[in-house]
Amino acid sequence: MSSKPTTSNGQDLPFSRAGGPGASTLAVHAGEARQKVGDSITDAIFCASTYTFANTQAVIDYIQQKQPREEYGRYGNPSQRVVERKLAALEGGEAALLFSSGMSALVGLLMTLMNSGDEVIFFDECYHRSREFCTKHLSRFGVVTHQVRACDYAAMEAAVTPRTRLLVSESPTNPHLSVVDLQKFAAIGKRHGVATLIDATLASPYNLRPIQYGVDYVLHSATKYLGGHNDLLAGVLIATQEKLEPIDKLRGIMGAINSPHNIYLLERGLKTFELRMQRHNANGQALAEFLDRHPRVEKVYYPGLPSHPYYDVARETMSGFGGLVTFLVRNADWQATAAIVDRMQLARIAPSLGGVETLIEQPLVMSYFEATPQDRQKWGIHDNMIRVACGIENTEDLLADFEQALRP
Ligand SMILES: *Cc1c(COP(=O)(O)O)cnc(C)c1O
Repeated sequence: MSSKPTTSNGQDLPFSRAGGPGASTLAVHAGEARQKVGDSITDAIFCASTYTFANTQAVIDYIQQKQPREEYGRYGNPSQRVVERKLAALEGGEAALLFSSGMSALVGLLMTLMNSGDEVIFFDECYHRSREFCTKHLSRFGVVTHQVRACDYAAMEAAVTPRTRLLVSESPTNPHLSVVDLQKFAAIGKRHGVATLIDATLASPYNLRPIQYGVDYVLHSATKYLGGHNDLLAGVLIATQEKLEPIDKLRGIMGAINSPHNIYLLERGLKTFELRMQRHNANGQALAEFLDRHPRVEKVYYPGLPSHPYYDVARETMSGFGGLVTFLVRNADWQATAAIVDRMQLARIAPSLGGVETLIEQPLVMSYFEATPQDRQKWGIHDNMIRVACGIENTEDLLADFEQALRP
């Protein structure tokens, strides 16, 4: 028995203002009970793996009347409901489902929607594990994956067949930071009666709200900006209550649920979401501009630079461009590029993004070292490419670190 996905648009706040509450007000207050257990200002962490019923009649009432309460830990816990309401409010969506990771959210969605013989179409710039799940695993169940060039809407529409169930893209994409025209993307789905999913992890709900453009499902790896402290894994899907209900049932079977301790960390991290995003955006923009002027840099991928191919779409649809900056080092092979990464003093070498610490990586080494040169070329992974996930350190310190690392 699965309890319903939790809904909120922030209407549960005992506060309203013309235009609606701001992102920080939602991040701090939305989804939470005003008066909590023990009169505590913070939410309690319920470690329970199971929940008790007062008597047999209470069990029967729960089953027959579908009363909203907890039953068994794999189906949900009170901490999760709070954070789901908060995330739905931040995204401007009807309901949210929290998962143990971004990948388990994606797998949960795909396993719910896709039947044998069905087809899914991806824009080709995407998180390599998302692609791998489709091509290596969904394929074993007879699901067909098509990949088309990122932001080629005509190619995506041409790939739609009567068996297409889902169109998938990230926005911005990783690591090229291409920005999808969500109106065009959602329109393809609507014209053909096909559901659409945007993985908006790199934007976060602070910078982009895909639901406003008619996208059906929004996914975030909450491990990144939402958690924000590089100390937890989580994923979230936001959609209508109706769309999330079957996914909720499968999540309860898969057990892809997050632990109450982890969820507490996520709730705590979310309190400063807007403040952190403002600094991530400022650092990303400042670093992109700095690198763009630097003689040792051949090319910068950042949607907040006028030279970026999707600058106009980004400016129209995003309220900030995030902390991720990718660049190519001029006249450098992969070893000379690695030497720059190794000279960084503040930035740490690690995958991931969206946390308070600035992280740096060479995609060739970190994610594609075992890929063939042909595949790397196909996916646009250059030997001299560096990806930086700006943290919230002071901008001047971050720029000084790059200044010294790029010194010839
Ligand atoms: C990290 C990431 C994921 C996977 O999320 P996990 O929480 O690590 O499972 C999916 N999509 C994007 C864009 C990501 O950056």
